[in-house]
Amino acid sequence: MATRECPQCGTPIVGRIDKKFCSDQCRFLYNNRQKRESEITIGNVNQALRKNRSILKTLNPIGLTEVRREVMVKMGYNFHFFTHVYRTQKGGVYYFCYEYGYTFVKENDKVKLVTWQDYMPKEVSDVLYQNRFDSPAE
Ligand SMILES: [Zn+2]
Repeated sequence: MATRECPQCGTPIVGRIDKKFCSDQCRFLYNNRQKRESEITIGNVNQALRKNRSILKTLNPIGLTEVRREVMVKMGYNFHFFTHVYRTQKGGVYYFCYEYGYTFVKENDKVKLVTWQDYMPKEVSDVLYQNRFDSPAE
């Protein structure tokens, strides 16, 4: 039988096959660390989303405008993070951070900024449903 080791301290584990840790203390420490790392990851993503939303709100106070992409980059916009995607019937793709969104204008390296519209799905679940069954753009 393969030797199992405690994932917290590396001590070989003896006893029941489903025993994962050498002690209650190690189980406690390990689970706490896992939870802490998860919270840090979630916190970092939330922070990036908040910052993106704040930048979009600042740049787009009236609900529709165009900016150069580099302006967003200089303000610290992180294009890797968005909450959801809205696809138009013509194949356009809008990336949203909550109620603020944008799409790339390919011809002139600008970004068109928008806000969530009434004709877009009302619920997040609708968006997820749409993204799941829509064929990808292009
Ligand atoms: Zn241990």
